[in-house]
Amino acid sequence: MQQQIENYDFAGKKAIVRVDFNVPLNEKFEITDDTRIRAALPTLKKVLEKGGALIIMSHLGRPKGVDEKFSLKHIVKHVSEKLGTDILFAPDCMKAQDMAANLKAGEVLLLENLRFYAEEEGKPRGLAKDASDEEKAAAKKLVKESQKDFVKTLASYADCYINDAFGTAHRAHSSTALIAEYFPNDKMFGYLMEGEIKAIDNVLKNAKRPFTAIIGGSKVSSKLAVLKNLLGKVDNLIIGGGMGYTFIKAQGGKIGISLHEDELMPEALEIMKEAKEKGVNIYLSNQTVAAQEFKNEAETKVFDTHNIEDGWEGMDAGEATLEEWKKVILSSKTILWNGPVGVFEFPNFAKGTLQIAECLAEATKEGAYTLVGGGDSVAAVTQMGYASKVSYVSTGGGAMLEAIEGKELPGIAAIQK
Ligand code: AMP
Repeated sequence: MQQQIENYDFAGKKAIVRVDFNVPLNEKFEITDDTRIRAALPTLKKVLEKGGALIIMSHLGRPKGVDEKFSLKHIVKHVSEKLGTDILFAPDCMKAQDMAANLKAGEVLLLENLRFYAEEEGKPRGLAKDASDEEKAAAKKLVKESQKDFVKTLASYADCYINDAFGTAHRAHSSTALIAEYFPNDKMFGYLMEGEIKAIDNVLKNAKRPFTAIIGGSKVSSKLAVLKNLLGKVDNLIIGGGMGYTFIKAQGGKIGISLHEDELMPEALEIMKEAKEKGVNIYLSNQTVAAQEFKNEAETKVFDTHNIEDGWEGMDAGEATLEEWKKVILSSKTILWNGPVGVFEFPNFAKGTLQIAECLAEATKEGAYTLVGGGDSVAAVTQMGYASKVSYVSTGGGAMLEAIEGKELPGIAAIQK
């Protein structure tokens, strides 16, 4: 049975907590952005305040085996400062039995990078490129077998399990999902996970209407499942950014050299048709700011999006488009935003994305629930200073995207079932 972190009695217990400390490090191994560490602090502090001991586990980067570069020892000092207490470090996550056993209430042990072992992800490593299907299957079987011991060893360190790593909730890895089965009555989400799950439910299950989703970004192919799932849920669907041009072209528009995927035009038309059947209003861009070169200083020209001249590429949403979208956004009670509506990395083409951030802030002020989730829109809203002006900014790019696709996330399911 799932427990609630708020009420759980941690006194005298050891909690093994999966966090996402996959933080960016510079060449001197200094943390350049500690958002993920700060996000886990409420959960970690709760265990210590309630008289428990902490065993923290995480991955860092994508090592192919033991690799100094990806050692979590680089972050020990920083985590210790943030937690306000010294922390112990176990240089091998599979050999921490004694350290865990000796841990007293209020003490903290950080395990070395879980992904130094292939068993964390349960995927074979070091297979020759030309390995046969049989060899691949045998290697997979082997790692799946040893994964059982890996999970069992991690579980043996503690009395209860907390998952607070939303960033890896879409992975069925040892520490994010499989370990939960060893704690049938002592497993729970941390506060960060609770916040993310509530945010997802606020839009996908309990949305106040009208519900508008703004989906941008570069490609239809990477957002197809998102669009399809949202069709059954939203009242309005704003499709912007590079992916919008595939829809415009599919309708017979002239899009110049704008980004598009010809092979996805039938899907785009199908989405438009399905939206009509379901009574969902689709809003594409009607005016585009275009350039002839893909660079910030490029000369710009504004076009009707269905009539972009040859040699010009749509780079940002035009004023008329933004005026129309603004009306839709400000009349909504629930708003989900995923993906920039222009090439926001170039300041000269970030205006549309900035205006979307402004609209969301305004809608939030007027009482709408606003969630920014998934990859680049999170970067945009944070970079532009609007993160605190919307209802929730998700910390998990891929995980949030899969949740919006309507998929069950293994990290969430393992605790709830
Ligand atoms: P995604 O990862 O799919 O959310 O896409 C984010 C990327 O889409 C960002 O790097 C944006 O620069 C890019 N993008 C947005 N609008 C356009 C556009 N009109 N043309 C090309 N790329 C775009």
